[in-house]
Amino acid sequence: MTPYEIIQRKQRGAANTADEIRFLVEGALDGRVMEAQISAWFMAIYFQDMNPEETWELTSAMRASGEVLDFSHLPGLKVDKHSTGGVGDKITFLLAPLLAAVGLKVPSITGRGLGHTGGTLDKLESLPGLRTRLDQAGMSRVLEAAGHALVGQTERLVPADRLFYALRDVTATVESAPLICASILSKKLAEGLDALVLDVKHGHGAIFQDADKAGELARRLVATCQRGGLPVGALLTDMDAPLGRQIGNWNELVESDECLQGHGSPDLVELTLALGTATLVLVEPGLEPVIALRRLKAALADGSARARFHAMIVAQGGSREWFLQPHHAPRPVQGRTVTAPRAGWVADIQSRELGLTGILLGAGRARKEDAIDHTAGITLHVHKGERVREGQALCDLYGGPGVDLEALLERARAAYRIVERQPDTPQPIHVDARGLGWSSRITRCLGLPFSAEDWQEWIRAEGLGLREHPLSPARLG
Ligand code: URA
Repeated sequence: MTPYEIIQRKQRGAANTADEIRFLVEGALDGRVMEAQISAWFMAIYFQDMNPEETWELTSAMRASGEVLDFSHLPGLKVDKHSTGGVGDKITFLLAPLLAAVGLKVPSITGRGLGHTGGTLDKLESLPGLRTRLDQAGMSRVLEAAGHALVGQTERLVPADRLFYALRDVTATVESAPLICASILSKKLAEGLDALVLDVKHGHGAIFQDADKAGELARRLVATCQRGGLPVGALLTDMDAPLGRQIGNWNELVESDECLQGHGSPDLVELTLALGTATLVLVEPGLEPVIALRRLKAALADGSARARFHAMIVAQGGSREWFLQPHHAPRPVQGRTVTAPRAGWVADIQSRELGLTGILLGAGRARKEDAIDHTAGITLHVHKGERVREGQALCDLYGGPGVDLEALLERARAAYRIVERQPDTPQPIHVDARGLGWSSRITRCLGLPFSAEDWQEWIRAEGLGLREHPLSPARLG
C-alpha cells in the first residue's frame, strides 16, 4: 500500500478502506506520509466525498492519534453537546450544569471564538483565576465536584486534527463535509462519551448560513456517530437573530447566571431544555420526552443547576464573587446606546453584523494573537419581531478606551431592519397571555424520538418555567 495508490483510488471515486485511512492518518503524524500527499487526498475527498463508513474510519483514526479521555471510574453517563456556533450562543453554560444536576457527567472540551461567533473558553476566562487548561486528572476532580468541566483542548488531544485543519485551511478544503464531520467528531469522541447531542445552526448568525447545507451536515454527523455506535441526536436551530440578549464575554456569563435563576431570555432557556431533553432520551431509551423536560425544568427551578455552575467555577480555580456581588465586577470604560431611527417593527437583526461589531468593540479577536476585552460587548433591548418607537433603545454598545464607539453605532444600527407593518415571518420569540415564553428556534430534529413540531406543542403546553423574562405580551403587540 502506497500513499500514491490510496490517493488515486479516492481520486477515481472508490471508497478507501479502514486500513488505508488509518495508514494515511498515522503516516501523516510519523512522517511516512508527506503533507503534500495528505493535501492531495483531501482535495480528492473534497470532490469525491466519503461514505458514512469511511467518515467513521477517518473520525476514529483521528481520535486515536492522541490521548482519549476515560472517566469510566466516575459514576454517571458521560455526555456532551457540540454547537456549530452562533452569535450570543452561551448554551454550554446552561446545559452542562443542568445535565450535571440530573446526574450526568459533562467533560466538555470547548473552543475559542471563530469568525463572528464567540468562544466558550474566552467567555469563561472573564473570571479571574479560572483555569481552562486541565489534564485528565484535573478534569476528573472538577467532574467529581461539579458534574461538568469546561476546558480547552490540549496538545495531546487529536493532534491529527491540528495538522489536518492547518492543511485544509491553505488548500481550500475546509468546506468538505466529511472532513468537517471527522474534525468535529474526533475531538468530541476523544472525551470518552456515552452520548452526544448536536446543535447545528443555520441563518446569518451561524457559520453555515444555508438551512439545507446545515441539514446535510447534521445528517452526516448523525450518520457518522450512528455508524460508530454512539447514541446521537441533532437539533437544527435558527440563528437568524442573536441568541439571548447579550453578546460578548463577561455579559454572556452574567446572562447565563440569570437564566439559571429563572430570569432568562425565552429562546436561551428553550434551546437549553430542548438539547437537555434530547440528551436524556438518548441515555434513557424509552423515557418520555415530556418527563425528561419536566425533570430538567425542576433542576432549573430549584437552583441545583446554578449550584453546579458555581461549583464548576470554584473547582476550576475561579471565584463566583462577581455573580453574587455584581458591583465588584469590572465595568466597561465607555458605552453608547443605539436607537431606532423610526417607529415600526423589527423585521430583522443581522446577527453576523452584530457579531462583527462585537469583535471591533474588543469582545473578539481580529487576529489570533489579539487580547480580548472581557468587559466589551452588546446588550440587546429588543428582539426580532418587536414593535419599537422612534428613538427607542435597540441595543447598548460598550468597549475599551481606544474604541471608536461613534463609528460602531452606525454599523450596529444598520444591523436592524425596521419596517412599517408587522412582518408575517415567524418571530423567534413568543410570549402568550399568561406570560409564558417560547421560541421557534428549533426547526428540525434528527436521530431523536420527537420532531420539532412535537417539541413546540409540548413547550407551549408545559411552559419554560421562567420566573420572569424581559419581554411582555404588550411589547410584542
Ligand atoms: N469545527 C471544527 O472543529 N472543524 C471543522 O472542520 C469545522 C468546524
